[in-house]
Amino acid sequence: MFDDARSKQLVLVSHCILNQNAISDGTADYPGTFEDVLRILMDKKVGILQMPCPELQCLGLDRGDIAGSQRAVVEENTRIRQALLADNNLEKIDVLVENVFYQIKEYQKNGFNIVGIIGVDRSPSCGIHTTSEKNMEVEGRGVFMDRLTDALKKDGIVIKMVGVKTSKVEDAVLQVKALLA
Ligand code: SF4
Repeated sequence: MFDDARSKQLVLVSHCILNQNAISDGTADYPGTFEDVLRILMDKKVGILQMPCPELQCLGLDRGDIAGSQRAVVEENTRIRQALLADNNLEKIDVLVENVFYQIKEYQKNGFNIVGIIGVDRSPSCGIHTTSEKNMEVEGRGVFMDRLTDALKKDGIVIKMVGVKTSKVEDAVLQVKALLA
């Protein structure tokens, strides 16, 4: 089964790595995709599973404040994190996590390899190594990644994760190449 051209290798990426239009106002560094990362994924011939953008899904494209871009990024990220932690938004995030988790399970059940997850550091939602809190970039996961990690752990699933930033291209390239090596 599935014995065709597909590589059976997949990488999960945060939504904005493939669609910079989704990112919060004032923080896009590319017109469309994080091209340097996308090129590596294409060269390695992995399938790319684009995870949903939790902030867009919970708070809208403007994140609930059209003046958000006037704040320092970490300040705005701290506000966004607080908004995501509200009960109704955590419920929405858990539905998104469930959906991603289901797909991971399906691929694994059918013998596909989930090579890794690429998140976005400093993000209140998708940070892997760092997130934003108390108006600072701090160590820790974003709200969505935190809950996804918990769901995976509960099921004994281990998937390598890296966090990239569009403002740090060289570092992103090194991390993604190491993930796929
Ligand atoms: S980092 Fe996550 S929440 Fe932020 S724009 Fe990208 S996908 Fe959306």
